[in-house]
Amino acid sequence: MNDCLFCKIVRGEIPSKKVHEDEHTYAFEDIDPKAPTHVLVVPKRHFRGLKEAQESDAEIIGRCHLVAAKIARDRRIENSYRTVLNVGPGSGQSVFHLHVHLLGGRDLQWPPG
Ligand code: AMP
Ligand code: ZN
Repeated sequence: MNDCLFCKIVRGEIPSKKVHEDEHTYAFEDIDPKAPTHVLVVPKRHFRGLKEAQESDAEIIGRCHLVAAKIARDRRIENSYRTVLNVGPGSGQSVFHLHVHLLGGRDLQWPPG
């Protein structure tokens, strides 16, 4: 996807503060953090979001969550963080390349707004 913001970040065409990278995933600091830790974990391969995910995407969706868990451990917030997938504009999804938000480092309210 040439015009996708997160594809451009993965390709290094738009700068980001990298937190983690492996063969399948890329993680970077959210530009407008909503918590002391607010990292986005994305698949390197483009797909729009959970609503569009296929059976064959199960592994990469799992990988993104495991990367979030690793980052939480590295930051010693493993007992108090949240992973979030916004799905569709009504939930706040504004970038249509699947991304897992990792939020932590402060008290998190439940239920989320
Ligand atoms: P969502 O609203 O779930 O689609 O999340 C998109 C997230 O991407 C928001 O939290 C934005 O702050 C974040 N974001 C948008 N542009 C950038 C960027 N250039 N670098 C890092 N994060 C970004
Ligand atoms: Zn993309």
